[in-house]
Amino acid sequence: DTLTVGQLAELMHKKSSDIIKFLFMMGNMSTINTVLSDEDIEIICLEFGIEVEKEIVIEEDNIEEQIESMHEDESKMVSRPPIITIMGHVDHGKTTLLDTIRKTNVTSGEFGGITQHIGAYQVSVKGKKVTFLDTPGHEAFTAMRARGAQITDIVIIVVAADDGVMPQTKEAIDHAKAAGVPIVVAVNKIDKPGANIDRINSEMAENGVMPEEWGGETIFVPISAKTGEGVSDLLETVLLVAEMQELKANPDQLASGTVVEAKLDKGRGPVATLLVQRGTLKAGDSIVVGTCYGRIRKLTNDRGMEIKAAKPSMPVEIIGLNDVPRAGDVFMAYDTYKKAQEIASHRLEKQILKERNQTSAMSLEDLARKIDQGEMQEINILIKADVQGSAEALKASIEKLEVGNVRVSVIRSTVGTITESDIMLATASNAIIYGFNIRPNAAIRKKAEEEGVEIRLHNIIYKALEELESAMKGLLAPVY
Ligand code: GDP
Repeated sequence: DTLTVGQLAELMHKKSSDIIKFLFMMGNMSTINTVLSDEDIEIICLEFGIEVEKEIVIEEDNIEEQIESMHEDESKMVSRPPIITIMGHVDHGKTTLLDTIRKTNVTSGEFGGITQHIGAYQVSVKGKKVTFLDTPGHEAFTAMRARGAQITDIVIIVVAADDGVMPQTKEAIDHAKAAGVPIVVAVNKIDKPGANIDRINSEMAENGVMPEEWGGETIFVPISAKTGEGVSDLLETVLLVAEMQELKANPDQLASGTVVEAKLDKGRGPVATLLVQRGTLKAGDSIVVGTCYGRIRKLTNDRGMEIKAAKPSMPVEIIGLNDVPRAGDVFMAYDTYKKAQEIASHRLEKQILKERNQTSAMSLEDLARKIDQGEMQEINILIKADVQGSAEALKASIEKLEVGNVRVSVIRSTVGTITESDIMLATASNAIIYGFNIRPNAAIRKKAEEEGVEIRLHNIIYKALEELESAMKGLLAPVY
């Protein structure tokens, strides 16, 4: 009663490579022989627009039959608004930009004009809707990706023109690239005397984000988040990039999507902001989110107005869940309350089982085993070193390693100690962290352990290389 990527692809009449690519974008490395979990299957089917008979979660026996009976309905796919995340270095103007966009694109006369902070909002740009995730910074973005949620269509990276590319700017670039999401650069604070747009162009180019006017692919828009200058150009650019992506969803099915924020409200109980990604979410619908479930008692939009239904790319705040879900969890609507309840309790049982025999998600030993069994062809590595020279040397030598079909990809290589952000990126990308001449503190070690991220520490480059090479050969002497 298990299904591999290859088998699912065949049942769905899709290419295995597309499924592998999709799983990779969600931070899961897989091959044609990878056995899929029920959640993976559900998410893949959703992504490829196939209606899943929801019983597959509980009746795993006839899973193949169930999938056979699914059908994809291209004709029902309609375009949906893009979902945008704003990232960048602290104080470069992310919050100011989010506020300016919200203020200038929500006319006060509009239905329920007063905006509420629910974690995401929608504005109109030239009659077209755009959804913004209202939590600036990459923590939220990566935390979601670490849980497998891929909700952002475009990342706006804000860089202050009077300050230049800074560490968190680079992190934002890494995150957007690792997720395969297109970038639009907002060169901010152009109203300030020290602003130097050319400098931003070249510094971003040095970090792998080449401006369009220099023959690259990324559009840079000079703005002042404070005065509002250039912000409408930025929004039009976002629409342009979104159009090229041809974002679509079928609104005519039971809803599914992702939790953006959730909290326990004293008076109302669990409150969650959901971003609908497919289908239409309605009051009275029964949903499952992770191991929580419930019937939606009330939907509220980002203007604090009660609404009856939410369509794709629309954020809504809901009440009616039995517990507080986690941000980044996927939600799904089911046609009966009973089914939702059964699925949630089934998941809870499975979660308890899993927690009981928890092992680290991706240790070097795991990798070696997977490679040996032909299940894995790429190793993602994150390098942290004491000095730039070592980071570069290690990166260069690691990237030269090649054993059979197995490749190594260095997704980040920076100077400094291991941070929480490194752990999150490693979780999201199934990466191993290589520390060179550094010692992570206890809090970071604990975090890594919780997330199942392996940290390998070395002081000698060739030792690190030797170890990695034997892992790539599928051989690794266990225990260090
Ligand atoms: P965040 O940390 O990236 O969210 O940055 P904020 O939005 O909090 O902005 C940091 C500071 O820069 C605040 O004092 C803002 O008023 C200021 N700021 C943001 N954008 C601009 C701008 O375009 N021009 C000027 N002069 N100041 C700005």
